[in-house]
Amino acid sequence: MVGEFKWDYAPAPESKDHVRLEKQYDLFIGGKFVKPLSKKYFATYNPATGEKLAEVAQANEKDVDLAVKAAKAAYDKVWKKMPGKERAKYIYRIARMIQERARELAVIESMDGGKPIRESRDVDVPLAANHFFYYAGWADKLEYAFPNRTPQSLGVAGQIIPWNFPLLMAAWKIAPALAAGNTVVLKPAETTPLTALKLAEIIRDSGLPDGVVNIITGYGDTGAAIVNHPQVNKVAFTGSTQVGKIIQKAIAGTDKKITLELGGKAANIIFEDAALDQAVEGVVNGIFFNQGHVCCAGSRLFVQESVADTVIRKLKQRMETLIVGDPLDKNTDIGAINSKEQLDKINEYIQIGINEGAEMHQSSCSIPAKGYFCKPTLFLHTSQSHRIVQEEIFGPVLAVQTFRTIEEVIEKANNIPYGLSAGVWTDKGSKIFNMTTKMRAGVVWANTYNKFDPASPFGGYKESGFGREGGLHGLAAYLKF
Ligand code: NAP
Ligand code: MG
Repeated sequence: MVGEFKWDYAPAPESKDHVRLEKQYDLFIGGKFVKPLSKKYFATYNPATGEKLAEVAQANEKDVDLAVKAAKAAYDKVWKKMPGKERAKYIYRIARMIQERARELAVIESMDGGKPIRESRDVDVPLAANHFFYYAGWADKLEYAFPNRTPQSLGVAGQIIPWNFPLLMAAWKIAPALAAGNTVVLKPAETTPLTALKLAEIIRDSGLPDGVVNIITGYGDTGAAIVNHPQVNKVAFTGSTQVGKIIQKAIAGTDKKITLELGGKAANIIFEDAALDQAVEGVVNGIFFNQGHVCCAGSRLFVQESVADTVIRKLKQRMETLIVGDPLDKNTDIGAINSKEQLDKINEYIQIGINEGAEMHQSSCSIPAKGYFCKPTLFLHTSQSHRIVQEEIFGPVLAVQTFRTIEEVIEKANNIPYGLSAGVWTDKGSKIFNMTTKMRAGVVWANTYNKFDPASPFGGYKESGFGREGGLHGLAAYLKF
């Protein structure tokens, strides 16, 4: 019977035989891996198995100071004087080396973070390489990028990134910084340091002058020490709104430049004239793939009343076919939740949703006994006041509401503290233009979702932060005029 016809795929695990991980990783400062002055290390785990993957150094304030000083020296002595066309060659070489080591990087990303190999292989790694290619192209053309202005580099950029797209976020930050003539101190998140450290190896092997990029690992106070260092001229942060606010307070009164890419609670809006199967696929892609660990995840669904029953039926059917499990299996749609803390947080929200009176539906799939996993979850009959509608969950949990008119859905979709992204599904071009001008969101996708390109800027409104990454806007964020 249609809808109940199911089969199992044979396991298709990606091999990890070619992956070489050290037992212990040091800090990448001044072009070399150096022991941390703190003398401390912490472990990073595979969230799908609980297996310890490696130990990485815990940078303290003194280590951060060394890294910033290395970046400052490289800026003054080498990088700011180097012609753009020479800088471009290094950036281009890094892009090529990411491509050459794409398979290894994708497997490590999935092992360390839990995301499905399909996503790390097809999205994270190619897009990371593309960002380096794209910005390599601008390095010797800054005066064409910003005609009649005199673009100048800023100095040392302190960059802090989250755990959901570790390599990609590193690329988003490092590539434009280098193209603009800045040097970098970057810190990956506690739970996903490994691809950033592999990128450090690539950068070392690329011959990039020592100290131009420094990559230091740590948690807790490490990020704050970067933000507060007096020789850091620009802070680029991607992470939670809560930490973004702390950072903004910390740099108030200084002349540091800042961009903040923070949380989101995106609305996906399906009108009655939309291609419904395509829309359902887009909604599934927007919230369930990559476990909902996406700042722009379409975690709120608004369906026009006349098609609500059909859409919800199709959505439930599609959820039944989603494969939850081993991130390294090429068939997997939903991998492991990044950490126990994150899984606890998601489960807490699921309980909140139930207590708020929304109707919960989960797919009937089984989940592995070991590791951190969560079934794709739907909440029906939610309302604007529900916490599961207002707050970022960062997991595979979708809150559904219905609407009758365009005015109503715009009002509801905009009525949250965030404004990062949105999706609109309709057959009418005029409706798309109407919606895109009225949605208070940095990106509005029309009849598609979660599409990225290095040439198009990305960033938020309201509590989703300010400043843009990607495109010329992302380059301007690393320049003064
Ligand atoms: P987080 O807790 O804010 O952490 C982000 C980074 O900041 C980590 O490297 C963290 O280090 C560091 N950090 C923590 N406290 C700090 C402080 N006081 N000063 C400086 N740095 C500090 O966020 P997360 O849980 O890793 O990531 C999830 C969040 O990122 C979600 O809210 C999501 O929406 C957002 N996000 C936004 C975008 C976007 O483009 N807008 C993209 C991806 C993710 P440790 O954790 O290692 O201590
Ligand atoms: Mg890990």
